[in-house]
Amino acid sequence: MGGQIWVSLVKQEDFKCQKCLQKGHFTYQCTGKRKYVERDSRTRLMNKKLKMDEEKAKLETLAKSVALSQKNKKERAKGKKKKR
Ligand SMILES: [Zn+2]
Repeated sequence: MGGQIWVSLVKQEDFKCQKCLQKGHFTYQCTGKRKYVERDSRTRLMNKKLKMDEEKAKLETLAKSVALSQKNKKERAKGKKKKR
């Protein structure tokens, strides 16, 4: 009963290894290398997004400091327009 039935239903030569994606052996018998799985790209994307957020934050800080220095310049030059 249980998992044993599933194993006995699948012939070893028909079984597709989940690790190297080759037929002929079970995953736990695998001696091959793990194939690159789609799931990895998702993690990569997340890392990329995280990095992008970081960059964005950096840029925002930069933009703020630039805006601040520009504002100071304007105030020093006695800007005609008053902001707020
Ligand atoms: Zn394998």
